Amino acid sequence: MYDAIVVGARVAGATTAMLLARAGHRVLLLDRARFPSDTMSTHYVHQPTIARLARWGLLDRLTASGCPPLDVARWTLEDVTITGCAPPVDGIRSAYGPRRFVLDSLLVDAARESGAETREGTNVTELLWEGSRVVGVRARGESGAEFTARARVVIGADGVDSMVARAVRAPRYEEAPTLNCLYYTYWGGMKADYEVYVTGRRAIGVVPTNDDAVMVGIQWPRAEFDLVRRDVEGSYLKALEATAPELAERVRGSERTARFTGTGRLPNFFRQASGPGWALVGDSGFHKDPVGAFGISDAIRHAELLAGLLAPALGDEVPLERALDDYAERRDEDAMPEYFFNLQAAQLEPMPELLDILRVIAGEQDQVDRFFGLIAGMYTWDTFFTPELIERAGAGRNA
Ligand SMILES: Cc1cc2nc3c(=O)[nH]c(=O)nc-3n(C[C@H](O)[C@H](O)[C@H](O)COP(=O)(O)OP(=O)(O)OC[C@H]3O[C@@H](n4cnc5c(N)ncnc54)[C@H](O)[C@@H]3O)c2cc1C
Repeated sequence: MYDAIVVGARVAGATTAMLLARAGHRVLLLDRARFPSDTMSTHYVHQPTIARLARWGLLDRLTASGCPPLDVARWTLEDVTITGCAPPVDGIRSAYGPRRFVLDSLLVDAARESGAETREGTNVTELLWEGSRVVGVRARGESGAEFTARARVVIGADGVDSMVARAVRAPRYEEAPTLNCLYYTYWGGMKADYEVYVTGRRAIGVVPTNDDAVMVGIQWPRAEFDLVRRDVEGSYLKALEATAPELAERVRGSERTARFTGTGRLPNFFRQASGPGWALVGDSGFHKDPVGAFGISDAIRHAELLAGLLAPALGDEVPLERALDDYAERRDEDAMPEYFFNLQAAQLEPMPELLDILRVIAGEQDQVDRFFGLIAGMYTWDTFFTPELIERAGAGRNA
């Protein structure tokens, strides 16, 4: 009998398992993957998440992987360019863009070292029930042998196609269709900062990562997916040239070190985050277009929220059902403003009000840095978009 079984051991699952194990609980962490292993994802991780890794004693491991710190953000949205860096969080000013085989493995190792029993190569096939309550899992282990395990809570951290979410029939809400498709690859021998370009219904993200490589990813509207995938390299180079010619020149002077990876499936939805004996964390409960690079940071932040609420409940200090209800409520409260901003950004259309504000603050470094802090999740939307700033933007527009 475990306190918690966590299905899925990447950013959401390994973090939850690590924190519950560190709080003294018996945790079983299961993933069908074997680590280190890659997954379809680019890499940008915002400063507050890096500060969390530092607080948990894991930042040194990330830097030891050779992943470069990202201290400069350069964004060009339509005709406006801003350059800056979010203010420090707990003294940490750098964002990072680790490869997922680095970040996920580091977290799995940390979960294991913290005392979570970790089984890789293990596929969870169904949930065990007592009445309407989830009480465990059935799984097939590395040897092919089937086993069952029971726990007070089963946590689905098993990604967008979550088996746990399907089994508990977690309702979906605030759903929007896939708006974009995306392809990315890696370039060697190229100088770059963390760069974003959005114009002409294309969004480009540039993230220096491990192995002296630079990830360059491009998003197109979903309606263009069939055309793009017919000639990925041609479409990619054409979009680079049209959207960011100076970046295209740097790319032309570099060597491509990997094949193109991409997808036309980037749905936007929430799933109910908890119920009797179960919870969902990370992409399994909240999926969105990667345009804002929020997924990894959200998964880790919500894992911390879930573990923080579950730990006292598993110690019988508060009722488990109340902790699960609180988690669902607080996850949505935390995620909704970002979700709607991200959804708007994912339209890849100019956002006139935002552009007016960026034009007004472009020469004020403090404000630009605060804007990057807003994107990193350090301020609420209300505290950044003050009536005064909106008024100044309006005056700028009418001047
Ligand atoms: C193209 C793309 C680019 C992205 N770029 C960024 C970015 O720059 N920054 C950012 O923050 N986010 C980005 N994201 C989002 C980010 O990748 C996800 O939000 C993040 O991976 C979610 O982590 P997770 O742990 O919830 O789930 P996942 O990473 O999906 O992990 C789920 C795990 O569960 C395991 N699993 C599933 N089913 C079972 C089962 N039945 N039994 C056992 N194990 C199971 C899987 O093997 C997997 O290891 C991007 C996403 C995409 C698609």
